[in-house]
Amino acid sequence: MIRLTGGRIFDPLNGIDGAVRDLWIADGRIVPEPPPGTPAETIDVSGCAVMPGGIDLHSHIGGGKVAIARLLMAEEHRARRESRGPGRRAGTGEVTPSSFLTGYRYARLGYTAAFEPAMPPANARAAHHEMADIPLVDRGAYVLLGNDDFFLRLLAEGAGAEAIADYVGWTLRATGALAVKIVNPGGIAAFKYGQRRLDLDERAAPYGVTPRAVLLALSDALERLAVPHPIHVHGCNLGVPGNAASTLATIRAMEGRRIHLTHLQFHAYGSEGPRRFSSAAPAIAELVNACPNVSLDVGQVMFGQTVTASADTMAQFRNAAHAHPRRWVGMDIECEAGCGVVPFRYRDKSFVNALQWAIGLELFLLVEDPWRIALTTDHPNGAAFTRYPELVRLLMDKDFRDAAFARLPRAARALSILPSIRREYSLFEIAILTRAGPARLLGLERELGHLGPGARADVAVYRDDPDRERMFARAHLLFKGGRLVVRDGEVLEPEPRGAVHLVRPEFDPAIETRIRAFFESYRDQRLSSFVLGEDELAEAGEVVVHPCRGAPPLPRAREEATAP
Ligand SMILES: [Zn+2]
Ligand SMILES: [Zn+2]
Repeated sequence: MIRLTGGRIFDPLNGIDGAVRDLWIADGRIVPEPPPGTPAETIDVSGCAVMPGGIDLHSHIGGGKVAIARLLMAEEHRARRESRGPGRRAGTGEVTPSSFLTGYRYARLGYTAAFEPAMPPANARAAHHEMADIPLVDRGAYVLLGNDDFFLRLLAEGAGAEAIADYVGWTLRATGALAVKIVNPGGIAAFKYGQRRLDLDERAAPYGVTPRAVLLALSDALERLAVPHPIHVHGCNLGVPGNAASTLATIRAMEGRRIHLTHLQFHAYGSEGPRRFSSAAPAIAELVNACPNVSLDVGQVMFGQTVTASADTMAQFRNAAHAHPRRWVGMDIECEAGCGVVPFRYRDKSFVNALQWAIGLELFLLVEDPWRIALTTDHPNGAAFTRYPELVRLLMDKDFRDAAFARLPRAARALSILPSIRREYSLFEIAILTRAGPARLLGLERELGHLGPGARADVAVYRDDPDRERMFARAHLLFKGGRLVVRDGEVLEPEPRGAVHLVRPEFDPAIETRIRAFFESYRDQRLSSFVLGEDELAEAGEVVVHPCRGAPPLPRAREEATAP
């Protein structure tokens, strides 16, 4: 038994905001305080903030496009090498780190789970096995649907909501996924037929269905299956000036259905001002605030070299003109998804990049309910996840934010209201954005993201420091499943594997007859080799199946802080 004593606990799911309490750990779980006299190893964490391990709900860490991104970023793999440590593997890469480094770097930041948000079904086996090589963090994946030929046929033929739900349920099970992501609804398929843009109510080649119809069908299927996380939406027109109109229309199109809008920064652009590019963050935040059915993550841009990797071939085809260095890859995967990888450098002297940075921060600060917004950079699309400490400081420290803003080009500053926003996030709110909120949005809150009895003992301890960037850059201690794996930012226990989190909804297995016929006619793979076996997933680590009970419960009310 371990007793952490003297720390201030930030455990938003249990309503605890900075109270000084002991935390007890046994057999890998948080346990209630034992009777007096129970022997325990006591660790004094006075002066520290104690939080559940961080949870990144949108981070591209495994699968084909990550491998391609590494290939395109060969220079950084030569330049950035980390050598072996005591029992620790060597690795390379900065924004596309090798698998082992990905785990070590998350652990140093105090993170214990990360979720791959764009797994093409055909790539599920490779994605799971690659992620199994990422040590120290739990993981899971969202399967891509909505541009695959089988789904589009069902929709175009009017197969009905039940058949679509059965297919979605079957796919979630066959691929070991936790949730469903839709990327540019219908647009990736349409791109292959020569379409170069597609808005919410335009008809998409080849079947003539609209993105609106795709979105609603997938959303209804997930509700029917009672999957905790709603449809995870990368909307129409990513990166296009004026795309906020599509985003606002998408939110309204849901008519109260739950939706998670991912990397919303890339979808919050107006077309005003002298350069026809402006911030629409205030209008979008206003609608989000009025719609409790909407959650989001930001996809914050941070300045520097990175690489963008997306299933959105239509958007990446446009972005390729701005590649830095000048190279890119676009490809198709079994007619079920797309893939575009474009290296990119965000420059603080660029009008557009500077405004993107400001738009992301405006979203963070204008969306009022921290339970509905998650902290992401859409790793590595806006920046690598290793930039999170700097991002946290931007949210918590107005002086620091204003100083960074002052360095931007005048034309960009003229179009942002950022300096007028006084809000500074508290530690409690940061704990929501980076752990409790994502756990709840994904339906993991039984196991992860809190410090109540029964939770997995994934615990991050940070030395309190008024410089929040320094505070969050290196966890003082990190426990993974009750084992101390990081001390003062150094990885001590490099090998423990995290668990894989998924759902297994109920559906009518009769749908498999239709799917089998489709495979026999069109696919490069037999159905039997497509479906991921239970033993294969178990090989990749402990499997945690989360119940399908629909929307996760509301968090507990916040207690008054009892800190001295
Ligand atoms: Zn996306
Ligand atoms: Zn993404």
